[in-house]
Amino acid sequence: MSKKFHIHTFGCQMNVHDSEKIAGMFSESGYAEAHGVNDADVIVINTCSIREKAEQKFYSELGRLKHFKDRDPKLRIAVAGCIAQQKGSGLFKRFPYVDFIFGPQNIDSLEKWIGQESGVRSQKSDNKTQITELTDNPEHSIKNLPVKREGRVSAWVSIMYGCDNFCSYCVVPYTRGRERSRQVSDIMTEITELSAQGFKEITLLGQNVNSYGKNLNETNPPSPPFDKGGQGGFANQNIDFSDLLKAIHEVNGLKRIRFVTSHPRDLSKKLIRTMQDLPNVCEHIHLPVQSGSDRILSLMNRGYTFKQYKEKIDALRSAMPDIAITTDIITGFPGEDEQDFELTMNALREIEYDGIFAFKYSRRQDTAAVNLPEHLNEKTKSERLARVLDLQAEITFRKNIELEGKILEVLVEGASETDKDKLTGRTGSNKIVNFYGGLELMGTLVNVRILEAKQHSLNGEVIP
Ligand code: SF4
Repeated sequence: MSKKFHIHTFGCQMNVHDSEKIAGMFSESGYAEAHGVNDADVIVINTCSIREKAEQKFYSELGRLKHFKDRDPKLRIAVAGCIAQQKGSGLFKRFPYVDFIFGPQNIDSLEKWIGQESGVRSQKSDNKTQITELTDNPEHSIKNLPVKREGRVSAWVSIMYGCDNFCSYCVVPYTRGRERSRQVSDIMTEITELSAQGFKEITLLGQNVNSYGKNLNETNPPSPPFDKGGQGGFANQNIDFSDLLKAIHEVNGLKRIRFVTSHPRDLSKKLIRTMQDLPNVCEHIHLPVQSGSDRILSLMNRGYTFKQYKEKIDALRSAMPDIAITTDIITGFPGEDEQDFELTMNALREIEYDGIFAFKYSRRQDTAAVNLPEHLNEKTKSERLARVLDLQAEITFRKNIELEGKILEVLVEGASETDKDKLTGRTGSNKIVNFYGGLELMGTLVNVRILEAKQHSLNGEVIP
């Protein structure tokens, strides 16, 4: 009987996709997916250290697993992701029942561990070989790992790893390493295969996708012939993100192309024009602003002023009037006074985002902001977060109400999680829509009349 694995994932899309690769490595080694921790032979916790809260959740989950290990000493436990990279073998001291620790750049090392595991497990149950794999591994960016995907309509595709921006509050450059772009041919081969497997939507993943290609060192200039669907034409060329989007747009069968995350400083006029020109590139962009105060943006080392950021928003909206824009906001950054905070509130009122991800500033090990003066107390940070969320909730709901009566094109993703008789899907602008219909519609684009706006979704009816 094949052994079973279970993956517990914390954090962002990058981590969700990394977990698909971890699942791919286990499946490729003959493991089946467990229903949960109870029937697993191996448990992997894929961690996120972007905020204190995510870290605390991880420690309590790992603490919970001790009981399962005591009950079954043959159970194997591995810790992956950004906390693994940050804490390393130090985790063994606090959690001696952990067997393997590997970083975001070392998912490929699972193959060796799984292989060793089957050897170890047949010998003695409590043979303690605690291993870490945390090397800075540039090769990781070019290794095409097996992927066990969650969905059947939409797929994540990594185009780059790491980040060079060193925003003063962020751990990513320390845990995921410096920026590396995947080879064009690898990306095109993966996307062509996904389309052939029936996937209709691709989301390109990277910490800062707008700087894709910056470190690709091929010299031959891009030249047209991209032969439709074939791989021969896709040589590794010196290419930027806009060119990559144009190449992906040529792949037969794809209906939608999305990407996340963009850095405002690297959002070019060329990219805005490319989004405008290519019908399958969705009219939605996630463009983190973080704060409306130039003083705080400078302390964050974001590399732009609010005026410069707003000019990019205006350029996007003049090119695509219906584009949906979402963002990230940090409240309570060290030194943020009431005036700075009011500038962030004004930014929300002025830009009217379709949605935001807002968080309190959280001290992160190794980041520059830890050493900044005037750290705020939790009460102030929480109050400001609540005010931001309240304001944005009004804006989001009003924008959703404006869609009532409209007919929107929706890519059907599958059964609704909230209502089993309904289907769910998303508009090009990334709005979630629920409506009645049969599962035969999965993977198709349907026109839906919006009947009712909700806070975070829309209800509608399919127009034949
Ligand atoms: S751009 Fe800044 S916030 Fe985003 S991953 Fe890079 S360092 Fe972190």
